Amino acid sequence: MKKREFLRLTGIMGAGMVVTPFIGCSGGGEGSSGAAVKNPAGDKASTGAEVITFTLPDLGYPYNALAPNIDAMTMEIHHSKHHAGYVRKLNAALEGTQGYGGLEIADILEKVTADENGIRNNGGGHFNHTLFWQVISPGGAKAPDGDLMGAIQKSFGSYESFAEAFANEAKTRFGSGWAWLCLDENKELFVTSTPNQDNPLMTNIADRTGLPVLGIDVWEHAYYLNYQNRRGDYIEAFMDLVNWTKVSELYKVAMS
Ligand code: MN
Repeated sequence: MKKREFLRLTGIMGAGMVVTPFIGCSGGGEGSSGAAVKNPAGDKASTGAEVITFTLPDLGYPYNALAPNIDAMTMEIHHSKHHAGYVRKLNAALEGTQGYGGLEIADILEKVTADENGIRNNGGGHFNHTLFWQVISPGGAKAPDGDLMGAIQKSFGSYESFAEAFANEAKTRFGSGWAWLCLDENKELFVTSTPNQDNPLMTNIADRTGLPVLGIDVWEHAYYLNYQNRRGDYIEAFMDLVNWTKVSELYKVAMS
């Protein structure tokens, strides 16, 4: 899997992201980026590289673009308050840590341990939401492309069976959390869910680890204004929004 390409596609790492020379990427160019280099006086991690300062990525579309499935006010609060808060608190949590210097967000999630609450919750929050905005972006195909559809049929029997299994993960996640479509280490698809802002990339934490290509936020803040307690209706509306062109691209890179 080409991790850099995967991160670029999720919008987590913009084409022009500038990172420290430590990980061998000099960046350059412009464009939205999920991160920028911190410019502190000292404060270096044990790797010798500075921790990356993460920034809130643009949605890339207006807050009302997903209405009526997801209303504009929910989108605005979710992006400009909730996601922004995760980014701010992630940067604060990384301050002065040892061992996270120069690491991109996916590497941070792979490394974080269960007791590092600030990085776990807010690093997960940043990654999860960045992926979420992409997979529900307006436009794109309404069904998976041939390769992904074939893999879904192989793993779940049919698209309908997959959709049911995914929705079931989302419905039965007690409290706040996420449901996911992922690839495992054998590049087989599976569905799972995680509590709070945990993520299947968290190898020290998640029940089942894998590379997520589709995720649904089932925190009440994602749907309560419009759907109140009707999580099932929100899940149905989400499935109609999925940009399968984007998910198919993520799948392709994850398979490569
Ligand atoms: Mn959320």
